[in-house]
Amino acid sequence: DHPVYAKIDGPIVMIGFGSIGRGTLPLIERHFEFDRERFFFIDPSDHNKHILDKHGYELIQKHVTKENYRELLTPLLTKGEGRGFCVNLSVDTGSADLIALCQELGVLYIDTVNEPWLGFYFDKNKGPSERSNYALRQMTLDLRARSPKGLPTAVSTCGANPGMVSFFVKQAALNIAADLNLNTPEPTNREEWAALLRQIGVKGVHIAERDTQRTTDPKPRGVFLNTWSVEGFISEGLQPAELGWGTHETWMPENAKTHDDPKAPAIYLMQPGAATKVRTWCPTPGPQYGFLVTHNESISIPDYFTVWEDGKAVYRPTCHYAYHPADDAVLSWHELFGAEGKVQDTLHVLDEDELVDGIDELGVLLYGHAKGAYWYGSQLSLEETRTLAPYQNATGLQVTSAILAGMVWAIENPNEGIVETDEMDFKRCLEIQKPYLGPVKGYYTDWTPLENRPGLFPEDLDESDPWQFRNFLVR
Ligand code: NAD
Repeated sequence: DHPVYAKIDGPIVMIGFGSIGRGTLPLIERHFEFDRERFFFIDPSDHNKHILDKHGYELIQKHVTKENYRELLTPLLTKGEGRGFCVNLSVDTGSADLIALCQELGVLYIDTVNEPWLGFYFDKNKGPSERSNYALRQMTLDLRARSPKGLPTAVSTCGANPGMVSFFVKQAALNIAADLNLNTPEPTNREEWAALLRQIGVKGVHIAERDTQRTTDPKPRGVFLNTWSVEGFISEGLQPAELGWGTHETWMPENAKTHDDPKAPAIYLMQPGAATKVRTWCPTPGPQYGFLVTHNESISIPDYFTVWEDGKAVYRPTCHYAYHPADDAVLSWHELFGAEGKVQDTLHVLDEDELVDGIDELGVLLYGHAKGAYWYGSQLSLEETRTLAPYQNATGLQVTSAILAGMVWAIENPNEGIVETDEMDFKRCLEIQKPYLGPVKGYYTDWTPLENRPGLFPEDLDESDPWQFRNFLVR
């Protein structure tokens, strides 16, 4: 009784079969018609092979590398008739090169991060600007600028975040506009969306997330635990903290840097994101600390919603991730930084059976408008996830349902070239995702980052405007 949304008439190649790959498999089986004989899985590790065995697929146990990707992927992606689909759910594989190959071969592509080849994140010869997500996104945008129009669709960074949260920003904007009785027509292009956010008076957007999923056993010493890729989280957590920089900001931290391109929508701090805390708000905890970990959406969302006049950005919201991961992941970071950055010997993604309960509350907090702040997002629990789909926790299902939506959208719009989720049909994507997201709700709050401040110690605050980054950043 699951809707079949489309037919994939060529081969499917899934690169990486980790926590997200294993959760995506049952959704592809449910919602697409495809040729089981041409569904290929490539992963150097066999840690999830038992799931492939159960479903009757082979594992090609190899690394996809800068050196071998053409030879390895070309015969698989072009096997037999029809248009293939490359589903990249791995770490350490170069998104831009893989997209270029897929476009050359005429196949569709999707990923959930702008991933670089192995070595990039920890390359000491690269400066912080070069190791930023701004730089990674730029590689994909540069490829797009060089590509002719009408190439096969390649959906860039379509997970929960980056990904689904871009759909949420638009829905949240429409909800606020309706509650403010603005009576404006629904935007139909980028310029109109940017104008709407400006009209509402949104000063900034947090990707505000609280993961309360708890383990059956307490975290042992020397183990990094998380509810999704530990390798992915460590890589991004050690990149510089990065944020889209709004036009209302009047102050910058002393260690903030701008990129060479004066039109770059983001800045970065000379410190790792997982060691950078901000004040934020989610419905269940209310006010909380989040990590300002860099993400593609922190750059793509403010870029999309910029209002340009005569080549000058006259409106742009500040935008960044404010992530309170599962408590065990917070402890894992504390341990890692305390050990002078030495990564734990054991890295482990907690699966649905190792977790007892909890929800992943993942949404967007649009702040600074006439109604204060508005959180809109998914409050999916582990318990509900167990009833919805196998092989994943709540965090996983928010990601895999976005991949499903992105794949359907790509098949329905097959010749769009490289697209970011900000540019996709958010209503269609949310319609596909919603059965998997648990409660999707909006909440207004009168909280501001100035609440109860200053406390027992003097603080450097801007009391004239609560919504300044100066007030959010924990210093
Ligand atoms: P994971 O660590 O559980 O799995 C990654 C898999 O990739 C592993 O099985 C690993 O063996 C495999 N791999 C490593 N090197 C490879 C290579 N060279 N070629 C092929 N496979 C390789 O991670 P995950 O939680 O499944 O996440 C997968 C990707 O999705 C990561 O890049 C992660 O950052 C991203 N992600 C995005 C979102 C989002 O919301 N956008 C959320 C979660 C994860």
